[in-house]
Amino acid sequence: MGDEPDRNNDQTAGQRQERIAALLAELRRQGIADERVLSALARVPREQFVPEASRADAWANVALPIGAGQTISQPFVVALMTAALGLRGGERVLEVGTGSGYQTAILAELAAEVVSVERHATLASGAEALLRELGYRNVAIHVGDGTTGWPEDAPYDRIIVTAGGPRVPPPLLDQLVPAGGRMIIPVGEPHEQHLVAIDRQGDQVQERSLGPVRFVPLIGRAGWAVQIQENGHQT
Ligand code: SAH
Repeated sequence: MGDEPDRNNDQTAGQRQERIAALLAELRRQGIADERVLSALARVPREQFVPEASRADAWANVALPIGAGQTISQPFVVALMTAALGLRGGERVLEVGTGSGYQTAILAELAAEVVSVERHATLASGAEALLRELGYRNVAIHVGDGTTGWPEDAPYDRIIVTAGGPRVPPPLLDQLVPAGGRMIIPVGEPHEQHLVAIDRQGDQVQERSLGPVRFVPLIGRAGWAVQIQENGHQT
């Protein structure tokens, strides 16, 4: 007690730092070169965004279940999408699919303001409480169908969608800043998509693919229809 160092905690903190360093090294090997994004990943405590049972794997480069049939994305995909947004610090960002709030925290580290929409009220309130506890003041979480965007605060310099839809929802394009707005969104089949980067200049829209990804379905008016599981629950 008193001056005695807590060896257990010291070791845990050391192991945690090692795991973070190993993850960053792996992300660099996978081609993530944006140091601002990498240091944001190192700062946001991912273990707090995963369920207790998954804590040991919090710094592994894998997606993990977060309840309600949803997942927290793999760190590589979070890093890839965030780097593709090209944030400089002054942007207003719309995120569709708050989930655990992990990607929201990364955005809050790198942009001026984040508006995030989640269709599951329980996930939204969990993420909101955690982000507040961690001290993020530049985040607003809303419950709703994010395929219609969040018109009240539009337009957005950047839009990131973290669930996969059949097409780019037209309301999201409309809510993108016309001069140089950018959106990153997975588009394709319900469980298999391509990550698409969209750059807007007035009415001109340029698209490029950033490769295959696997997100949970984007469910809503401009997404997929509501899913009914075998147990009769909606996901
Ligand atoms: N970025 C999240 C990943 C969450 S998984 C994270 O870091 O944890 C995708 C989320 O999108 C799920 O929580 C799902 O409920 C949500 N979602 C799916 N369709 C949606 C829609 N139309 N509007 C808002 N959220 C949606």
